[in-house]
Amino acid sequence: MVQLENTQLLKSAGYIDGQWVVKSSTFCVTNPYSGEEITRVSDCDANDATTAVLAAKKAFPQWAAMTAIQRGALLRKWYNLMIANQDDLGYLLSIEQGKPLAEAKGEVGYGASFVEWFAEEGRRLTGDTIPSPSANKRTVVIRQPVGVVAAITPWNFPNAMIARKAAAALAAGCTFVVRPASETPLSALAMAALAEQAGIPNGVFNVVPGLNASAIGKVLTQHPDVAKFSFTGSTNVGKLLIKQCADSVKRVSMELGGNAPFIVFEDADLDAAANGLIQSKYRNAGQTCVCTNRILIQHSVYDKFTAIYREKVHALTLGNGLEDGVDIGPLIDAKSCVKVQSMVDDAVEKGATLILGGTPATDNNVYPPTLLSNVTPDMKVFKEEIFGPISPLMSFQDEQQAIALANDTEYGLAAYFYSRDIGRVWRVSEALDFGMVGINEGIISDTAAPFGGVKQSGSGREGSHYGLDDYTNIKYLCMGGIA
Ligand code: NAP
Repeated sequence: MVQLENTQLLKSAGYIDGQWVVKSSTFCVTNPYSGEEITRVSDCDANDATTAVLAAKKAFPQWAAMTAIQRGALLRKWYNLMIANQDDLGYLLSIEQGKPLAEAKGEVGYGASFVEWFAEEGRRLTGDTIPSPSANKRTVVIRQPVGVVAAITPWNFPNAMIARKAAAALAAGCTFVVRPASETPLSALAMAALAEQAGIPNGVFNVVPGLNASAIGKVLTQHPDVAKFSFTGSTNVGKLLIKQCADSVKRVSMELGGNAPFIVFEDADLDAAANGLIQSKYRNAGQTCVCTNRILIQHSVYDKFTAIYREKVHALTLGNGLEDGVDIGPLIDAKSCVKVQSMVDDAVEKGATLILGGTPATDNNVYPPTLLSNVTPDMKVFKEEIFGPISPLMSFQDEQQAIALANDTEYGLAAYFYSRDIGRVWRVSEALDFGMVGINEGIISDTAAPFGGVKQSGSGREGSHYGLDDYTNIKYLCMGGIA
């Protein structure tokens, strides 16, 4: 049974043009730990997605015409409601996604922080004046909202991935349609319930839950009234959606997969590095795009660091995310457990040594934290995004080799390294081909900082003052007849 203080937050209908859209066809949302059905949600289709786009189009002129301060005040109300309902939103998120309750509440706080940030940032959406080559002219640059924004988001951050996009879009004066992942629509619908309560006008924020990702995705990427498409998810799906956007030349933002290296140099504080690695590797059971994927340890400290790290990993508590003290909850589904196991098997077959875990997942989809030593670049755990609680360890001889190994991937989202040598800190920071680098730090997500990747990890930045850029057009005004 779902236990909420505010029962209004459990929604099972789509939210389009300020109306709760109930469909006769529904799909099931299950708890990944218990396998129990939480509720059934209206299965919206491509027609509903079109209705949502048209509602967003209709709402756009009025929303864009409001002052940034007026929009900011409504966003601030939305933020306040998210914080007031943080416990319930965290609970809903934990039961549909599986992450430990404390982590789920943390995600809600993180998601809400984007709403607060952009409520304020909207009023700083300034333009520019540029000295003109002619006394008769003035050159002025203004920024305007792009129009209707459509988005598709993943299950691993059911609240924050929506908030990070929607808050920036709404603050810039855009209207918004999102299709949440089919595994985790409840957090998105709860956010819509609070947007409604905050007084965000009809059609400005729309949620279209539905099983048929491809059909809804086609509308959101191809409808002529969508000006911009924003996606968070895997690189493969991202590539497909970029192609779909090409015919109507939509602006796109892509927050895609990662393959983060975590480098431990011999001059590092090894205990601090092991703690940072635990945070970076085991958050959300290893299912985040910025989770460490490959652990590179300098040869001279390899055995010592591995022993410290192994002990810390061994102490982690596994189980039901709703229970106190649980560090690692279930993976999202049984298929993910099988995939993770196959990556461990592949590594062991190719010569890696299993030093912790590696046993099959429980019936509750809990996969044990697993340490693999002597990993090599031909193994799947090195080449592919793991998205599970596996730590592949390998050694390197010197700084150059560490950088080469770290950059040996088509991904470029996050990287981490630990070193106390100030020269090395600069050299390595500049040489790593990634959008974000954690230096002596395992947790890098920050509302005020630009989040995003390079290479096949995507394009665009979310959060920070750069986060509004993706939702605005730059317009140049050439004003003549002055002198
Ligand atoms: P995914 O399979 O790409 O799915 C992401 C979203 O796309 C889901 O809503 C999914 O719907 C939908 N989708 C799948 N196929 C589609 C299609 N043909 N047309 C339209 N939509 C489609 O990724 P995931 O497994 O859910 O999420 C994990 C991935 O997201 C990882 O690669 C992770 O690194 C990445 N990620 C990146 C960031 C970042 O900021 N860079 C943040 C978080 C996650 P269904 O759920 O219904 O399948």
